[in-house]
Amino acid sequence: MISWTAELERLKKQNMFRVLRTVESSQGPKVWLNGQEVLLLCSNNYLGLASHAILIEAAAQAARDWGVGTGGSRLISGSMTPHAQLEERLAAFKGTEAALLFNSGYAANTGLLQGLFGPDDVIFSDALNHASIVDGCRLSKARTVVYPHGDADALERLMHQEEKTRQGRWVIVTDGVFSMDGDLAPLVALVRLKKRYGALLMVDDAHGTGVLGESGRGTAEHLGCLAEVDLHMGTLGKALGCFGAYVAADRVIVDTLINRSRSFIFSTSLPPSIPVTALAALDVVESPEGESLRRALWHNRNLLADRLQRGGLSTGHSTTQIVPVLTGEPAPTMKLAESLLAAGVFVQGIRPPTVPAGNCRLRATLMATHEPEDLERAAELILQAAVGAGR
Ligand SMILES: *Cc1c(COP(=O)(O)O)cnc(C)c1O
Repeated sequence: MISWTAELERLKKQNMFRVLRTVESSQGPKVWLNGQEVLLLCSNNYLGLASHAILIEAAAQAARDWGVGTGGSRLISGSMTPHAQLEERLAAFKGTEAALLFNSGYAANTGLLQGLFGPDDVIFSDALNHASIVDGCRLSKARTVVYPHGDADALERLMHQEEKTRQGRWVIVTDGVFSMDGDLAPLVALVRLKKRYGALLMVDDAHGTGVLGESGRGTAEHLGCLAEVDLHMGTLGKALGCFGAYVAADRVIVDTLINRSRSFIFSTSLPPSIPVTALAALDVVESPEGESLRRALWHNRNLLADRLQRGGLSTGHSTTQIVPVLTGEPAPTMKLAESLLAAGVFVQGIRPPTVPAGNCRLRATLMATHEPEDLERAAELILQAAVGAGR
C-alpha cells in the first residue's frame, strides 16, 4: 500500500505542514485558544456580526419557525421561503434583476464558471484570484488567460491578441478585494475593457461586501461602478457573519445557473436559519449601526497599518482591512506567528500554495469590534517579534 507519511514528513521539513487550531469560544475580537484568551487578528468576521445579539436571536427564532435542515436540494424539496426572500433582498442590494444562493463561496465560484462557460469561451482571470476561481476555470473547460495581477494594460494586450481567434463568450473575472494582499481590483479600467471587447465582468466580492462603499454594497460601489458589473459574487460568511454565498445578476444568468450549475443542483440547500440570519445581517449593514461599524473598522485598519509601517514593516499594497506583513520564507513566518501567539496575538502565517513561493506573510485582518488599545499593543508585539526575527 502506498503511504502518505513520506509526503507529510517532507511538508514538515519544509515548514509547510498545516495543523488546525481550535477556537474554544464564540467568534469575537478576542477568543480562547489553548485555554488562553488571545486577540483575534485573523478573522474575516470584519463587522463582528458572527456573534451579534440580533443575528443570534434571528438564528434561534428561525430554527423554531423553520426547523434546522431543508431535507433536499433547491430543485427537489429544499427551496424554502427564507431562501427566496434573501435572494430578492440580495438582488435589490446589488441592483440586479435576480440573485441565487450557493452553499459556500467555493461552491459559488466553481458552479458559476462551470455553469456559464464552456470550451468555446475565454475566461480572463487575475493572477492572484482566489483558489475557488482557479478551480472554477478548470471545471468550465474554457480557455483561461491569466493576466498579471491588477494590470489592466497587460489585460488589454491579451484581449487584443485573443480577438483574432475569438469564438464564444468572454468574461473578465477578478476578486474585488484581494484576499491575501488587501488591495483593490482596478474595476473602472476593467469596465472600460469589458465594454470595448464585448465581455462580461465578474467580481468576487467576498471581502468587500458589507465593508466597502457608502452603504456596504462592496468594492464596485466604493469605486463607483456597481451597475457595470455583470456577475456579483459575494459570501455571507465574512462581513455578514453567517455562511454561504450568492451571485446577483440578470434573470437569464440566474436561470442558466439553476439549470446547469452542478454545485447548485447536486447539493442540499442551506439550512433555513442561514437566509433568515443573513437578512438580519443586511438589516444591520444598511442601518446607521452598519455605518458606524464601518467607520470603526477603517479607524482600526488605519491605526494598525500606520503603526506597522512607521515601525519599518512592509504591508505591501493593502488599502483595506486585510493588512499583510510581508515575511518571505515559510520558516521565519511560522516562527513569528508562534511567538505572537505565545504573547496573546493570534495571527496566521500564510504560505504557498495560498500565496506564491517567497511571498509568505502574516495576514492581519481587522474587525470593527477590536479595541484600539489592543491593536496598539498588538502592533508593538508584531514590531518586536519582527525585529527579533531579524527583519
Ligand atoms: C473566502 C473566499 C471565497 C470562498 O468563500 P467561502 O464561503 O469561504 O467558501 C471565495 N473567494 C474569495 C475571494 C474568498 O476570500
